[in-house]
Amino acid sequence: MGVLKIGKPYIENLHNGKVRLCADIETNGDKSVLYYEVEEEYGRFLNDDRCDAFVVGLINSCMFDENDIICECVLTEQLYFQINMYYIPLISDLFSDMNAIHITADTTNEPVENEGKIGTGNSGGVDSTYTMLKYSKDKLKSFKLTHVLFTNISTNDYDDGRIRSLFDRDLPMKIEAANYLGLKSISVYTNLYSFYKHPGIFNHYFAQQYCSAPLALGKLFKAYYFSSTFKANDYSMDENLIVSSGRYDIFSLKTLTTSNMAFYSAGTEVDRMDKLDYIINSDYTKKFLQVCSVEQSAGGKNKAAKLNCGYCNKCGRMIGLFYAQGILKEYEDIFDLSFFNNNKAKFIGKNIEADQGVFAKKVTKMLKENHKYPVGTDFYRICYHIRYKLAKSEQLVRFYHKLKGIED
Ligand SMILES: [Zn+2]
Repeated sequence: MGVLKIGKPYIENLHNGKVRLCADIETNGDKSVLYYEVEEEYGRFLNDDRCDAFVVGLINSCMFDENDIICECVLTEQLYFQINMYYIPLISDLFSDMNAIHITADTTNEPVENEGKIGTGNSGGVDSTYTMLKYSKDKLKSFKLTHVLFTNISTNDYDDGRIRSLFDRDLPMKIEAANYLGLKSISVYTNLYSFYKHPGIFNHYFAQQYCSAPLALGKLFKAYYFSSTFKANDYSMDENLIVSSGRYDIFSLKTLTTSNMAFYSAGTEVDRMDKLDYIINSDYTKKFLQVCSVEQSAGGKNKAAKLNCGYCNKCGRMIGLFYAQGILKEYEDIFDLSFFNNNKAKFIGKNIEADQGVFAKKVTKMLKENHKYPVGTDFYRICYHIRYKLAKSEQLVRFYHKLKGIED
């Protein structure tokens, strides 16, 4: 078992319009600094009085790496209790790659004085678009969304230069998106990803990393709407079933919620089709929906011609749905449709087989009912079905690599 020490948080003014909340981190003798960087005007809302953001941001990394956490600054007592009592024991018991660790920290029950604002994140996808549209209209003033965070926490890259240039490139559009709905935008850039040696862990167990950003702005927010991926009845903590921790975020968020800040699993009341129905005809969605995963990938080699590349699986799902519903033309400004237009049958066949979930079944049904199921789609479905089945067979993949002269 190793040790990760979190020093007392401090504010660093970069004099370039940006301010950072920092903490010195010492991991088994190696020293580094973890930071959360925001625009200058939000600097006064960074919470340097306690280390909540840092413990929450690093918890999954420490559980994976088997590092106990020692805090040289106070931690909110309720947060400490819930992480220690529920999160660590349950997650380490249920997931074979996560280990039980110990947190040493002085705790406090003093309330955090905040501005009573409510935030959410904007990745651009269906889940966050639903949250922004739905929760910005809430009639109860005290639950109405006020701020939108744009962070780099969804990255699965490891190169700071690339991550930052992509972040800087997308930022103006994210500000425009928030303003379009009458919301305020805050950019949060963090090097948290660099503390996760294994990008798979960073992207698989993710609620804590995202929630560390609003916790860094603890003097601003009283609540945060964390966009759910699943409806509550799809809840699972079965290691063999889940594809990400999104399956149990209603549990994770409960362990992060304190009297200082409430985390809600926003959108957990509906499924994906309901979310799409809600957002699909909005002018906002037609201008800002960004489901594409291509540039988030390590390297970001495949530069897209439009906001959505129109080729990756995530784009493919949306294009299939929009086409089935007869509204694809309304999305041509933000989706590159050249791949789709060149071979509709192959495109749709591939994406139905790649997805194979309830969503693909619904889209297939819709395509057939609306007489839009392209001739030849079944042929490509058979081809892709075999291809994806083969890809799942480890023996065949090894055989394929041997044929190509690649030993594993
Ligand atoms: Zn794409």
